[in-house]
Amino acid sequence: MELDNALNFSGGPGVLPESVLTQTQEAIFRVPETGLSVLGISHRSDWFAAVVAELETNIRQLLDVGTDYQVLLLQGGATQQFSMVPMALLRNSETAADYLHTGYWSGKALPEARREGPVRLLWSGEATEFRRLPDEAELEYAASAPYLHYVSNETVEGLQFHRLLGRDDVPRICDMSSDFLSRPCEAERFELIYAHAQKNIGPAGVTVVVARNSLIERANHDLPGFLDYRTHAQAHSIYNTPPVFAIYVVLLVTRWLLGEIGGVSAMARINQSKAALLYGLMDVHPEFYRSRVRAQDRSLMNVTFNLPTPELEQEFLALASEAGFSGLGGHRSVGGIRASLYNAMTLQSVEHLANFMADFQRKSGY
Ligand SMILES: *Cc1c(COP(=O)(O)O)cnc(C)c1O
Repeated sequence: MELDNALNFSGGPGVLPESVLTQTQEAIFRVPETGLSVLGISHRSDWFAAVVAELETNIRQLLDVGTDYQVLLLQGGATQQFSMVPMALLRNSETAADYLHTGYWSGKALPEARREGPVRLLWSGEATEFRRLPDEAELEYAASAPYLHYVSNETVEGLQFHRLLGRDDVPRICDMSSDFLSRPCEAERFELIYAHAQKNIGPAGVTVVVARNSLIERANHDLPGFLDYRTHAQAHSIYNTPPVFAIYVVLLVTRWLLGEIGGVSAMARINQSKAALLYGLMDVHPEFYRSRVRAQDRSLMNVTFNLPTPELEQEFLALASEAGFSGLGGHRSVGGIRASLYNAMTLQSVEHLANFMADFQRKSGY
């Protein structure tokens, strides 16, 4: 049987809303307002300037922040932000930035920060295999840190913070790549948020950085132009040729979020319902669907679990694929099963998966 796009539970790139795919298909031949293919429209056109302006407005509206924040559309993925943040704020610093090591992706940010300046490891879950997040009592934030860096949702392990970290007098910087615009996030309490598009809000090729003006103003000078937030802020994200196509699709996704879904609070309620279907089932059969992580730290975006044996996991994946599901294999670094429930994944598709899981459990005889 062929795979079904509605049943693509991939960890990333993730699924996109069907209405966005339909509009994207049309735009590849002809963008309604211009008559030209989106793949061949100049990034210096009035049309594209309007795309960027509308996208900035939509993201500010979805995050509920004002024009004291810049919305930048950059390249290089979240990985480039692992370097750009410490280049801007840690190079030449005498005091250490606070970093949390809560999983695979926050672990990738650490060595890049250490190249630029002093880093203090505030907490690490490495010794406990990243099966939980820290409790507040375990964290002693430094008052003098130039910033605190953490990852709101650890995509690989399936861990998500359900609270804000840090202190209000130390700038919070957060990688929200895998849960951006999936729920309200108190954006105005962060100095800088970054998220690449390809998990929750579009195709690969563009990374959204939302940064307070005052942070951009005090950032280090003497950086390569392209790696300096100022450059992109001054150029309204059209410093060089940007990924016009990816940016246009992200605009369509924000229109979908605002129009069809009704904003991030409505999105959060849908995401809650989706995750509850799978976690509810896992809680009924905890000896069969073995959660990787502590219950209170479970991610609403990436549901991870193991089965009693590796053979059963192989069988689960093979049968799922025959039934049209895809993307359910765990990340190569941890194995097991991972169902990613990004914004565009429908409740109906998650119901299909829950039914499949219930059937599989019954048939296995456990
Ligand atoms: C996938 C992911 C990354 C890596 O992003 P790239 O765009 O591939 O550089 C970084 N952080 C998080 C939280 C991720 O989920």
